[in-house]
Amino acid sequence: MVEKEDLRLEIPSYAYIALARRGMEKISLDQCFLNECDNQDSNLLEPFKKEIQEDEKKITKKIYIKCKKCNRNFILKLETLKYVAKSTKSEKEEPLSMGIVYALDEDGKNLGHIGYF
Ligand SMILES: [Zn+2]
Repeated sequence: MVEKEDLRLEIPSYAYIALARRGMEKISLDQCFLNECDNQDSNLLEPFKKEIQEDEKKITKKIYIKCKKCNRNFILKLETLKYVAKSTKSEKEEPLSMGIVYALDEDGKNLGHIGYF
């Protein structure tokens, strides 16, 4: 049980989606990203497995999550870049995002880029 709680802590609470000219929108990652499921209750989401891959450029963390509403599994893939290029143009520019989050289905098929964390 303790391990499962730890897995939950590996998942950022929110991701940010860039909206053209309107800044960033914050979305909760406590939801099921599978088709035809509208589960947004974190009590019905159970992270059960974690995989970490690391290469010289990035760390890729996959958190496997069971959705107790649709009874399917999905994967949150969190990519953290190790070296983030800094903009030299202007101090005012927002720093580049460090992490990108994707949703995958149980077979590893990409459901899409969710946002940044
Ligand atoms: Zn679901």
